[in-house]
Amino acid sequence: MTERLYLVDSHLFENECTVLSCAPADGGFDVTVDRTVFFPNKGGQPCDTGTLGPVRVTDVREAGDELILRTDSPLPVGERVTGQVDAARRLDIMAQHTGEHLLSWCAYTLFGGVNVGFHCALTYATLDLDTPLTPEQVKQMEDMANDYARRDLPVTAVIYDSEAALEGVPLRKHTEGLTAPIRVVTIQDADSCTCCAPHVHRTGEIGAIKITAAAAYKGGMRLTFLCGGRALAYFQALQTTVDAIARRFSTAGEEVLSAVEKQESELKEVKKEKAALTARLEEYLTAELQAQAEDVKGKKLLVKLVDADPKRLRPLALATLPDKGLTLLLTERNGQLTYVLCAKGLKLDMGELIPAVNLALGGKGGGRGTLAQGSAPTPAGLGETVAQLKAYLTQRVRND
Ligand SMILES: [Zn+2]
Repeated sequence: MTERLYLVDSHLFENECTVLSCAPADGGFDVTVDRTVFFPNKGGQPCDTGTLGPVRVTDVREAGDELILRTDSPLPVGERVTGQVDAARRLDIMAQHTGEHLLSWCAYTLFGGVNVGFHCALTYATLDLDTPLTPEQVKQMEDMANDYARRDLPVTAVIYDSEAALEGVPLRKHTEGLTAPIRVVTIQDADSCTCCAPHVHRTGEIGAIKITAAAAYKGGMRLTFLCGGRALAYFQALQTTVDAIARRFSTAGEEVLSAVEKQESELKEVKKEKAALTARLEEYLTAELQAQAEDVKGKKLLVKLVDADPKRLRPLALATLPDKGLTLLLTERNGQLTYVLCAKGLKLDMGELIPAVNLALGGKGGGRGTLAQGSAPTPAGLGETVAQLKAYLTQRVRND
């Protein structure tokens, strides 16, 4: 059985140990030692990494009572080596983990919300509650947790030999199903709960606690949060973004919201004006196009390449139609040709005509009755093709 030194002192970052076994595994080596400071992947958080003598420890996992240290190189069995965890990584994860104890206790104390899940990644951590909370309640628990962190309260771990010995210990999480020895982690004046992971010595080590997201999750809520250095890095990145936006608006960071709101309402006005101007422009364009339509045996024919928004081509084409006539409008944007074929008061079916238009333009399109449309990569010699299409459609309208 590996003696787990982290259970007794979370700030012990190195220790002497003896290599008990070493076997090749998955491109590395699985090593066991008699005693270690390394914490495994457990309880929703990542393991310690570090060194074991001259070799690197990349992963630590539990196998029954043993801890298996995955190393990048082999070690001789019986060798005495020094194990050393990456202290910055351990301290960062302990800050997130103890921050989670405080947040869970605040949610429980304030709103009766029970922690039903915890996950700590290397860049963020999440905490799942069985109760949905309002944004005000989330802020309230965040304020309270930060207050307790600032008070720099001692955090202690006590190991109980039996469940009976636990009687009378006020626990946030009940202990049913746990087998002795049972480790209870206590934050003075606040939380007590069973836990096997390393924690900070005092709540001041947690630093600032920031909840960055709160989303509905399985009938309750998933809170994403950052503690200590992670919270600071988050604020620094946020400030860089806000400062960059403020510079664009030539204003101070605190004024940026009202500057954005002002621009938003100006943009709304501009869009309204643009819509009105576009409508008027289309009226003129429609009249101009109608004037260019040619008479074919008492019917009007309009075939024209126009400069128009492809999304507006269909209403524009329909607006040009007289009581009896046919229109083919085409527009070209960024190498893409869009076309609309429509008719009124004719026997011709656009579904029957569109294949010939598609073929001439090398495009794809369809429709039936009085309307068809299509698109194509802008073909070479477009002007000439349009002239040929006009001749063809003139023929068809004449014979209608
Ligand atoms: Zn814990």
